Amino acid sequence: MANPSPKVTLTTEEAASLRRGFKYCPRCRTELVDREVYGRVRRFCPNCRFVQFIDPKVGAAVLALTGDNRVLLVKRAVDPARGDWCLPGGFMEIGETPQQAAARECLEETGFSVDPETMKLVDVFYYEDYRGSGVLIMYQGQITGGTAAPGDDVSEVRFFGPDSLPENIAFASNIEALRRWQTETG
Ligand SMILES: [Zn+2]
Repeated sequence: MANPSPKVTLTTEEAASLRRGFKYCPRCRTELVDREVYGRVRRFCPNCRFVQFIDPKVGAAVLALTGDNRVLLVKRAVDPARGDWCLPGGFMEIGETPQQAAARECLEETGFSVDPETMKLVDVFYYEDYRGSGVLIMYQGQITGGTAAPGDDVSEVRFFGPDSLPENIAFASNIEALRRWQTETG
């Protein structure tokens, strides 16, 4: 499950420059200009009229639970929020459902499986950070098997009961989802 190749992580500056848009047209290689198109200033190709829409990224995460109601958290080994705990999750790929994305990320990051068919929607969260804006689709599901195997972007995998959550939890969405789970089960 753990990928042996090192993961490339953008610096803050590189991520911010991606958010500003492309320098050259990905279709015809002409230098793009800033122009108002569809009510907003966007990167525009004066040659082939390509318009760059800078869309929110869509991610999926899962509140993965054991039979005795403990939640699976990962300690982040990469920025943002390196060293803090969060729910397993990540960005969706083309050709998978958000449930499949959440299950895939969970398996890659922790070594534990959650059946996508059994997942229930917790909420949909919107966030903004230096990488741009994003939408996180959060599920809850039961762990169906596996053994702890931290992925590349994770330094530790651990289960926590509702009364023993760590102090340093990353991301407002994760804090909110875990708070609701604590309230429902506590
Ligand atoms: Zn072009």
